[in-house]
Amino acid sequence: MGKWIHRFVLEERRLEFPFVGLTLTALIGGIASRWAAPGAQGVFWVAAYLFGGFYGVIDGALALRGGRLDVNLLMLLSALGAALIGHAEEGGTLLFLFSLSNALQTMALERTRRAIRQLLNLRPPVARRIREGKEETIPIEAIEVGDHLLVRPGERIPADGVVVAGSSTADESLLTGESMPVPKGPGDPVFEGTLNGYGALEIRVTQPTSDTMLARIIHLVEEAQAQRARTQQAIDRFEQRYAWAVLAGAALTLVLSGLWGEAFDRAFYRAMTLLVVASPCALVISTPAAFLSAIAAGARRGILFKGGMALERLAQVRGVAMDKTGTLTENRVTVQAVRTLNGNHPDAILALAAAVEARSEHPIARAIVEEARARGLSFPEIREVKARPGLGVIGLTPTNSIWVGSPRLFQEQGIPLPDEVRALLEESQRAGRTPLLVYDGQWQGLIEVADRVRPEAAEAVQALRRMGIEVVMLTGDQPSVARAVARTVGIRRFEAGLLPEEKLERIRALARSIGPVAMVGDGMNDAPALAAASVGIAMGKMSSDVAVETADVVLLQEDLRRVAEAIALARAAMRTVWQNLAFASGVIVLLVALTFGVGIPLPVAVVGHEGSTLLVVLNGLRLLRWRWRSAGGGGNLSRG
Ligand code: ADP
Ligand code: MG
Repeated sequence: MGKWIHRFVLEERRLEFPFVGLTLTALIGGIASRWAAPGAQGVFWVAAYLFGGFYGVIDGALALRGGRLDVNLLMLLSALGAALIGHAEEGGTLLFLFSLSNALQTMALERTRRAIRQLLNLRPPVARRIREGKEETIPIEAIEVGDHLLVRPGERIPADGVVVAGSSTADESLLTGESMPVPKGPGDPVFEGTLNGYGALEIRVTQPTSDTMLARIIHLVEEAQAQRARTQQAIDRFEQRYAWAVLAGAALTLVLSGLWGEAFDRAFYRAMTLLVVASPCALVISTPAAFLSAIAAGARRGILFKGGMALERLAQVRGVAMDKTGTLTENRVTVQAVRTLNGNHPDAILALAAAVEARSEHPIARAIVEEARARGLSFPEIREVKARPGLGVIGLTPTNSIWVGSPRLFQEQGIPLPDEVRALLEESQRAGRTPLLVYDGQWQGLIEVADRVRPEAAEAVQALRRMGIEVVMLTGDQPSVARAVARTVGIRRFEAGLLPEEKLERIRALARSIGPVAMVGDGMNDAPALAAASVGIAMGKMSSDVAVETADVVLLQEDLRRVAEAIALARAAMRTVWQNLAFASGVIVLLVALTFGVGIPLPVAVVGHEGSTLLVVLNGLRLLRWRWRSAGGGGNLSRG
């Protein structure tokens, strides 16, 4: 019971609006009884104070218990002070407006939270499993990898998996921000929480419930909220100091007016007004109101900010560094040619390389294994494999070691490249392909791979440049390949042949020369750089877990244009924050000046003060409807 009251009254704040209504009723009663029953007036004022001050007392007491003085206490103090000098009516009005404004703020911010929480409600509670031809309903937690599930038309898909039978479309806007339905047939991947279209689907589960895309997003959003709490701490500290200053200022004016010979009542009234108008309510809410909305607006379009810090830093970014393989180019790398160096059949070389690569997650490794499988080659899986990040892999068998990697791998290990190897390397360089040498004590051959530039890459680079952002490519690949890609997408600065720690070094150097830099990568050999960058951005469903963990921003859709969009949103959020702060402090200065200059009545002070607080919150909410216009000309990136 106690717990229920706690939730109902405190957490969900269900009594806020009813109490505002009761405060107003008591106020009207008090005013009316002035003529009808002057004796009863006191009762009405007490009621107005009790209802109007209820949440203020609770919040203020909580703050006080944490050793903090907050705006609630300033307001209560002012209201009580007004009552002391016979202005209970104005004190009651103050509490009514203050509680109304707080209730409206709760409601407004709740809208933002709801936008985020919507994501969490997308997990369907149950799934229909097919076992031995029979259908059974099971709770979502009971789903196991390999289960076959039936998804009816219009239902949410209960797991990450692949379609085994049926055809339909799926609305994956939740994950990608893209509202076009995606066709689904046998072999296509489906994702938990996305909406099935008009057909029934039978799917095979490929991911445990705890590790679906949706589970990851939920985890990220929770993280973002926790992080917001950290920025909130800084604001709380500011609020506290400021509140003390207001209190001291009010006391000081009281003393000074006394010395000046002013009547006590007038001076006291002015001090109470000062408590209200100088309170930092609007300043305090300026930042969270904008950040919460921006985070929600981002989440809706597949851009996940891990908290306000990410927004703040992304807005300041001057440069964007991009990894090549898997970022500027599609995740799919393909084998273009296999050349032998010892007369063996190319297939033998491919099988040898695939045996070593079978354990690697690198797109190049996947390409080689895939090609070997496609050619129907069988290869033993080598258990002991050493990865040399950014260089290649070395497989150890009981009898010898097999090397697959870039020319630099061999240079590092002091293995000289004979002339016939160099000749082949030059050839693939001319073809603009990435060469991988295969060596097991003898030179076996060379595998050429290539990846395709993403279709939207050039447009994405251009959009960034129009925003005044320098774009740089950092890659571990060959300079020849790097140059070709850079030219295709319109990047002028690139560095090739980088090891993971060299990428990190370049990020730092770049930050020193142009300012804060964001790094876009997939976590393959660029996780250190992602972590070192001012903002790490991981892209796509295919991003490795490392990337998603290290990054500050996760783009759910594999679309490079989202990088510019994320920056535009972050900038819009910061603009809103600055607007709010400027407006809030302007109103404070104005009202304080009026209080001293002409001596405004307390109710007017409260209206001005609470009005500005609400405007600040509403201005933040506008970000929920933020749209990106990647303008064709002029680079006009503004809110619509
Ligand atoms: P990028 O910076 O373009 O994403 P990486 O740093 O991931 O590239 O890799 C750089 C180079 O290291 C590749 O071009 C390749 O030559 C080599 N390499 C990395 N991983 C592997 C692997 N698993 N097998 C063979 N070569 C690899
Ligand atoms: Mg990479």
